[in-house]
Amino acid sequence: MHCLSKNGNKIELVGGGDVLIVGVFHGEEPQGKYLIDNCPRDKHLFIPCLNPDGLALGRRENANGVDLNRNFPTANWQGGAEGGPAPASEIETQFLIDVVEKHKPRLILTLHSPFKVVNYDGPARDAAEKIAKILNYPVQADIGYPTPGSFGTWAGVERGIPVVTIEFDDKCPFHALLQPFCEVLLSL
Ligand SMILES: [Zn+2]
Repeated sequence: MHCLSKNGNKIELVGGGDVLIVGVFHGEEPQGKYLIDNCPRDKHLFIPCLNPDGLALGRRENANGVDLNRNFPTANWQGGAEGGPAPASEIETQFLIDVVEKHKPRLILTLHSPFKVVNYDGPARDAAEKIAKILNYPVQADIGYPTPGSFGTWAGVERGIPVVTIEFDDKCPFHALLQPFCEVLLSL
């Protein structure tokens, strides 16, 4: 499964299994793509880079200036610069919705930075605690600021799919994150 972004970059789903791992919601958080590109990919489903246009532009938003993690069709979605002109208006948002609806993952991990914390939505407390222990990060149930239209609200809160958000420590070199990340994958 794949699609093309507005700027013609490929967004793809690779691997197979019932756990989905998503990298690079935000273009200035490239850790997820590096980790997914360099880990074994036989056991799980991966979207290495959800926002290749943002990654190429070196910015949080996609090519339309929309924050993908504010564009999901949730009850609390808000229009405007961050949320986009309509819920799920963006190609990237629609692709991830299609992947979740088609593959029905039992657990979803999303890879962000820089807060060095493990956050979760929906029935994911146990999974979050297990992952946080491996990474030696604290678990935080709430990231501490409002996130209308977030993926965690759409999948975790409103659909009951456990969603764990890893906020990697951006002070840590990428290669030093790889081994703990591989351990996390093996534990799922
Ligand atoms: Zn992020």
